Amino acid sequence: MGKITGFMEFQRQKESYLPADSRVKNYKEFILPLKDVQAKTEGARCMDCGTPFCMTGCPVNNIIPDWNQLVYSGNYREALETLHSTNNFPEFTGRICPAPCESACVLAINNDAVGIKSIEHFIIDKGWKNGWVMPQPAAFKTGKKIAVVGSGPAGLAAAQQLARVGHDVTVFEKNDRIGGLLRYGIPGFKMEKSHIDRRIEQMQAEGVQFRTSVLIGEDFPSNIINWTKEAISPKQLDQNFDAIILAGGAELPRDLPVPGRELEGVHFAMEFLPQQNQVDAGDKLNKQIMASGKHVVVIGGGDTGSDCVGTCNRHSAASLAQFELMPQPPEQEDKPLVWPYWPIKLRTSSSQEEGCDRDWAVATKRFEGKGGKVEKLIAARVEWIDGKMQEVPNSEFEMKADLVLLAMGFVSPVTQVLEAFAVDKDGRGNVKATTDGDGCYQTSIDKVFAAGDMRRGQSLVVWAIREGRQAARAADEFLMGASNLPR
Ligand SMILES: Cc1cc2nc3c(=O)[nH]c(=O)nc-3n(C[C@H](O)[C@H](O)[C@H](O)COP(=O)(O)OP(=O)(O)OC[C@H]3O[C@@H](n4cnc5c(N)ncnc54)[C@H](O)[C@@H]3O)c2cc1C
Ligand code: SF4
Repeated sequence: MGKITGFMEFQRQKESYLPADSRVKNYKEFILPLKDVQAKTEGARCMDCGTPFCMTGCPVNNIIPDWNQLVYSGNYREALETLHSTNNFPEFTGRICPAPCESACVLAINNDAVGIKSIEHFIIDKGWKNGWVMPQPAAFKTGKKIAVVGSGPAGLAAAQQLARVGHDVTVFEKNDRIGGLLRYGIPGFKMEKSHIDRRIEQMQAEGVQFRTSVLIGEDFPSNIINWTKEAISPKQLDQNFDAIILAGGAELPRDLPVPGRELEGVHFAMEFLPQQNQVDAGDKLNKQIMASGKHVVVIGGGDTGSDCVGTCNRHSAASLAQFELMPQPPEQEDKPLVWPYWPIKLRTSSSQEEGCDRDWAVATKRFEGKGGKVEKLIAARVEWIDGKMQEVPNSEFEMKADLVLLAMGFVSPVTQVLEAFAVDKDGRGNVKATTDGDGCYQTSIDKVFAAGDMRRGQSLVVWAIREGRQAARAADEFLMGASNLPR
């Protein structure tokens, strides 16, 4: 424990944000990391309580009290080593993790939680700035070849772990750039893409090979970005690799099959967001879906919807509304009831703060338009009785809408990929594999493993990193009989 009385003496040190009116002018990050003195003060607030619930709240089990203490004492390089021992990519999580660790912080019971995420952000940025993040190539090669399908955080974490113990790893990605949803989903203003590029360089120096614009599978989905029509069948992968890790994400979006869904101007969020990522990367698009000057309704109150809101504000939408089907959650959680778990409570994202009319318990009934283009949305208020949704009588209303973005989550991985590999699916359509015991992360096909959203369903970056790391260990054990990789 750095400072025994720190938690009583110091207020939480908050990261500052650039003002909304200046940040909406571009797609750059706007969170300013803590300064040294602030990070030390925040580190001093950690109580190093006997049972660090924060560590179990964190899906990668970051050793949080240790790095809090190391930051407090100014030992930044050791803090970075401790952080990297459990998390391959803290620059991703330090920016975009919702920080379930902070909900589990003991100090949060009657005070502001320690700003764990901001300290993580501080440590890794300091590491990159000082050149402390170096490639860690394996001391010897095993001669085993591993294919990783998908280059999101799960695939990247698995690839890095496996390369560091000497396997020859190739990452196959159907899109033209590496990164999965980190690259083509999460907007640049939440996480700039140079963070991914730096990691790719590090991983290449560690021996990982990246092959972009290569689809693994035999059936050709339509959502590939700049695909050159190169495809490799699962059979070919099987012949050429000793193990395969499926980390293809959960890409099948939930649709809203109401009348008028086919009208021009009604799009999935994941038709809209990646285009802006492409433009930010310098691509010239023939036709970009733009919110500029339009009346926009975002359907879905989660992270993806919020990213649509932030992007629409940057496009200068004429008006912007966001609907959620569920009722408005309480402003404050009932702490004794929910701590140390992630509480359901009203959260306002930085994108929503930039401007957006939010409405809850609203169900969209149909879209209407002229000349094949959407012009308005007809919705009704709903109430939830005994877990069942009921329309409130006479509550129908209409709203002007010339762009509607559907952000209602993802159902499962794309089925063609799983069928091509002939792996068993679970009841939700994800790849079936356990996370514990013998054969964990292994699918119904012996040498094929699965990790991330493709196995667990739509989730978080930090969970994807955890699963990538653990699947890497399982594959290493499968190939070598034992593994020194951490779980
Ligand atoms: C818009 C949006 C915003 C989000 N914001 C956050 C956030 O702020 N914080 C957070 O923690 N989480 C967020 N998430 C969730 C998070 O991005 C995902 O949980 C995470 O990226 C899953 O990682 P993954 O590696 O399992 O899959 P993905 O990131 O989905 O990557 C899978 C990759 O596999 C590739 N692939 C799939 N099939 C094939 C194939 N057959 N051949 C070759 N390549 C293939 C895909 O092209 C993709 O690049 C967000 C999700 C979305 C959609
Ligand atoms: S990865 Fe997420 S949950 Fe874990 S310490 Fe960082 S912010 Fe907290």
